[in-house]
Amino acid sequence: MSELAILGGTPARGPRPWPAWPQYDEATEQQLVAALRSRRWALSWPSDGSPSRERRFAEAFARYNQVPHCVSVDHGSSALVVALEALDIGPGDEVIVPVMTWVAPVSAVLRVGALPVVVDVDPETGCMTPEALRAAVSDRTKAAIVVHLAASVADVDGIRAAVDWAGIKLIEDCAQAHGARWRGRHVGTFGELGAFSFQVGKVLAGGEGGAVITSDPELYRRAQQLRADSRRYPDEQVPEGGNELVEAGEVMGGNYCMSELTAGVLLDQLSRLDAQHEHREKMALELERGLVELGDFGAIPLPEGADRRSIYEYGIRFRPGAFGDVPVERVAEAVTAELGMDVWPPDLPLHRSVMLHPHTKRRFAPVWTEDGRRRALGRDYPGAERYRETTLLFHHKALLGEPADMADLVAAVRKVRDGHERLR
Ligand SMILES: *Cc1c(COP(=O)(O)O)cnc(C)c1O
Repeated sequence: MSELAILGGTPARGPRPWPAWPQYDEATEQQLVAALRSRRWALSWPSDGSPSRERRFAEAFARYNQVPHCVSVDHGSSALVVALEALDIGPGDEVIVPVMTWVAPVSAVLRVGALPVVVDVDPETGCMTPEALRAAVSDRTKAAIVVHLAASVADVDGIRAAVDWAGIKLIEDCAQAHGARWRGRHVGTFGELGAFSFQVGKVLAGGEGGAVITSDPELYRRAQQLRADSRRYPDEQVPEGGNELVEAGEVMGGNYCMSELTAGVLLDQLSRLDAQHEHREKMALELERGLVELGDFGAIPLPEGADRRSIYEYGIRFRPGAFGDVPVERVAEAVTAELGMDVWPPDLPLHRSVMLHPHTKRRFAPVWTEDGRRRALGRDYPGAERYRETTLLFHHKALLGEPADMADLVAAVRKVRDGHERLR
């Protein structure tokens, strides 16, 4: 067998390029140029008599999710802050969050002055379990933020039952799950609010951006004001030169508004999303056929109620020991070298991550006391550790390729598996 690429051998894949991300064409350019030429670069700028792109995108994204309301914001992180504030969560409150996630849901809880209570995840999907949620409920718990991670979704039925049992609210962080469905319904519609990110790497890309969805008209009214310095859309149509935001002041907000240029790009990108989902799913199934033949390998599973995947990061799961005792970081480097495309292990669980360092900011001192720290992180996280040690991730753009690309992925994994003894 040929030498591993990381040890100087010939890579399993030739010099063919991988699909590029983000994807755009002339239609995208037209949307962007139209926003530019409108001179209306922000929602808070005189109207040209037609609804802002920000509002049009929010309405389109609500329709996409089959939910009555959506508010666009500037980041997924802001969407989480707005969602928490819409539920009036603040100092003295606790919010249950998973240990396996991008740090944003946890930092959002800190930003509203509440304490994040960090719980373990399912070792197969990396998502918060209903059992871990139930075990963390205290008399201070007001909400939970569930994250639909990478290529899977949490056990939505179990999580919803657990929050109802506890009498708390649910926010779904769908930054990695646009368009995923559970028993025919879009994720993000099972919580009181769903939060999304449109950061460039996500499956719906706008550069930087986010949104909150809800079916509750009161939460919608609050979310509008929370993202636009206490202003909301007016009830009447806005004439040319008019203002599409009126001062309401029912709840004090901040400025988390989405730029019109971003909204223009997102209008274009949203129209491509379902076709991309379909293509990725086809390639994922192709890849899975190859992985299963290898033995010891497979995809991150979906819980039984999930009936459509949204693949943000594709996860190859392997049986512990499939690469001997070679650490997953080293395996990922070796597969990366074979493919000429980044493959990585999941981010460190937050209890071991430098991303969660509340002691470095004075503002968090009131919650991040010795007692607060213990309430937040005083648990074991075996599910997260197992998930991390047995998962290799890569970006969804690779699944926009063709069957030959999937064959290269399988060949690279096989080659590193067969040659892992030499990696030690
Ligand atoms: C990307 C991401 C966010 C944050 O989104 P930004 O738009 O980058 O602020 C939040 N939660 C999860 C799970 C994410 O992956």
